[in-house]
Amino acid sequence: MSVEEEVMRIQKKLSKMTSEDGSGQEQALDLLKELQNLKINLDVLTKTRIGMTVNALRKSSRDDEVITLAKTLIKNWKKFLTSSDSKSSGGSSDNNKESSKKEEKRKEEKPKKEEKEKDKKLQSSFPASTITTDSVRLKCRDMLAAAIRTDSKDEDFEGFPSPDELAEELEEAIFMEFKNTDMKYKNKVRSRISNLKDPKNPTLRASFREGAISAQRLAKMTAEEMANDEVKQLMERFKKETIDDAQLAIAQGTKTDMLKCGKCKQRNCTYNQLQTRSADEPMTTFVLCNECGNRWKFC
Ligand SMILES: [Zn+2]
Repeated sequence: MSVEEEVMRIQKKLSKMTSEDGSGQEQALDLLKELQNLKINLDVLTKTRIGMTVNALRKSSRDDEVITLAKTLIKNWKKFLTSSDSKSSGGSSDNNKESSKKEEKRKEEKPKKEEKEKDKKLQSSFPASTITTDSVRLKCRDMLAAAIRTDSKDEDFEGFPSPDELAEELEEAIFMEFKNTDMKYKNKVRSRISNLKDPKNPTLRASFREGAISAQRLAKMTAEEMANDEVKQLMERFKKETIDDAQLAIAQGTKTDMLKCGKCKQRNCTYNQLQTRSADEPMTTFVLCNECGNRWKFC
């Protein structure tokens, strides 16, 4: 059996597990370990889109071990993407010797142009986030994620992006403003962290987690704007708009029973595909659960 066939065999089993109600996942850990032992390359990742399957499993699982291993696998696979990204992310190729070794190996195997196209395809088979190997940026993402997690439980993030995903998005938005990690960048990160951690301002964390404040917006907010009252107003407006949007989505979107809501586990969803950023980036799919109103997105 080829690696690709092995991956597809495991993928088949994993896909079934994510469509059941978190039950029947006893085998999940073993299957993930099998995946870990396979020599999966960029080609296999792109063809099978196993990254999506493992990410879906991570989201549906309640088993800490499964979640941790799934995250590790995704993180390792994402390293395959760094070759086309390393130039734009601040040129820190020395930060990750292991991944640059892998890169070198891969470069011997494949012509560059073909590889770039593959990278692009692969990027669309992962949830939206940006990849960096810059140690300063990674450290900032960790600190932001910790701040986002302040006073919250795991279930607070059900149906929403994880703290790591939120932190990646926020850090990326801040980095895009300065295009470096100098003093101004660091100050900006630091002020977001202290406000997100503020015990007197749980609304800011909730607003960011639930999408009332986007990463792009939070990256640009002043200290006054991040203060409690302003944020509360934003949250109110968002809730009203969300209800309006939800009604609009039902009217305009495509109904499907292919997608399952992570909150209420029903299969009664409506989705819309939108080009959110520039035209050459993958489409984002916005999903609305018609049963409980839960909303999420994926690429
Ligand atoms: Zn639902």
